[in-house]
Amino acid sequence: MNATSKIESSEYSDLNKVIGWFLALRWIACGGVFVSQLVIHLFFHYNLPNNVLFTFTGLLFIANLSFTIYYILIKSKNLSRNELKAFFHIQVCSDYVLLFLLSYLTGFLENPLCYYFVFHIMLTSFIFSSTIVYIYVGSLLVMLISVMAAEFFRMIPHFPLNPTTNANYFDVMFIRGAGLCTTLIIAAYLITSIKRRIEERGRKIEFELDRYKSLDKIKSNFILQVTHEIRGPIAALKGFHEMILKGITGETTQRTRETLRKANRRTENLLTMIDEMIDYAYMKAEEKIRYGITGLYLKNIIDANIDLFLNAANEKDIQVASNCSRDLSLITSRDLMNIIFSNLISNAIKYSPAKTTVRVNAEKDKDKVHIMVKDEGIGIKSDELDRIFEEFYRTRRAREIVKDGTGLGLSIVQKAVEALNGKISVYSEEGKGTTFHIYLPSSNPNGTKNEKNQGGNNEQ
Ligand code: ADP
Repeated sequence: MNATSKIESSEYSDLNKVIGWFLALRWIACGGVFVSQLVIHLFFHYNLPNNVLFTFTGLLFIANLSFTIYYILIKSKNLSRNELKAFFHIQVCSDYVLLFLLSYLTGFLENPLCYYFVFHIMLTSFIFSSTIVYIYVGSLLVMLISVMAAEFFRMIPHFPLNPTTNANYFDVMFIRGAGLCTTLIIAAYLITSIKRRIEERGRKIEFELDRYKSLDKIKSNFILQVTHEIRGPIAALKGFHEMILKGITGETTQRTRETLRKANRRTENLLTMIDEMIDYAYMKAEEKIRYGITGLYLKNIIDANIDLFLNAANEKDIQVASNCSRDLSLITSRDLMNIIFSNLISNAIKYSPAKTTVRVNAEKDKDKVHIMVKDEGIGIKSDELDRIFEEFYRTRRAREIVKDGTGLGLSIVQKAVEALNGKISVYSEEGKGTTFHIYLPSSNPNGTKNEKNQGGNNEQ
């Protein structure tokens, strides 16, 4: 693996973070050791080799300082997994050796500090596989048993923690040693088993998540198919209504025309809902939304979308005003821009009372285009504002006013804006109106160029 490659394996993906965490813990331990030594030296008259111990604390400080400096240096370098692993092994080994020395110099088996090895085993198992944890524990046991034997046969001195209790140390040392060794073995077994169980659960959850995702995709494809099938006959129905209304099929009475107009409005609503479902299912079915990019003048797109909803606006005597320079162009997806404008404009009209104004503005803002759709409608309560981009969410007030609605439009708009690498935000005051702001990059490199536009021809 090359030295700059990123860490991918889950076993090591958090290594960098854990190393930082370890260093912080070691600084705390370093301070703790120093303070306890000082307290023991000043207030308890234990016969400990103080000079050796203070030198040892100094060594711990120097080791930790070197690790910290090295860590700061490598942090920005994105080391390979093996390099980080090696760095971690060096730290773990030095920790084991230092803790071992510290406990040996302060009473060894008399000192409850020996049990701190359990924490080291825990920390090691965070990062390494069970085999490596057992290798560490095995080496530790060999070291413990060797030093116990060496102390017992007086090959090395024993540094008593408390000289008065030293008398029976050798009588109970094997019981204490056995207690410590079994504690370490049991701790290693429990920790690695718990870790294995957690990993198994994690794998199960990942598997279920994948299964859920593929089922969701099948569902979206199904919705896509069904809505496509339904759309045709309903669009035809709307066409027939219009033919009758225009008198193409013969004379009709005023009352029939009134009823047909109502039927046509409901059919239009139904078509809008079906279109939203098609857009929604399409965006869900696609892992990454694919879209063709083209050079287009924003004013044309805005005007075309306003035209679509002029009837609905006229019925409520709502004015739809636009302000966009004729030559404001951007390289983007026509389909996604239509989705964005049609949803925002139709919502602004839908959720506004009669005789109000809806404004659609667009302007250049540095390397971005700032689009604003503003209305003087019912507004959105601040506690509901966070939820309006959720799929199927409709505010209470909106449900009271407009019965038909899928609650999908804004989630589609948000996905479309994100697909275009843009940002959307909303400001609203209940009863006063709502403003949507969208910032889009002037050019989108992620889409696929439409063939007819290759060569840079802008729409005129
Ligand atoms: P739908 O309009 O079908 O309910 P949308 O996803 O388009 O679904 O909008 C979600 C909800 O956000 C709406 O139900 C409404 O409560 C709120 N909303 C969206 N646009 C406006 C607006 N211009 N004014 C007030 N509320 C709005």
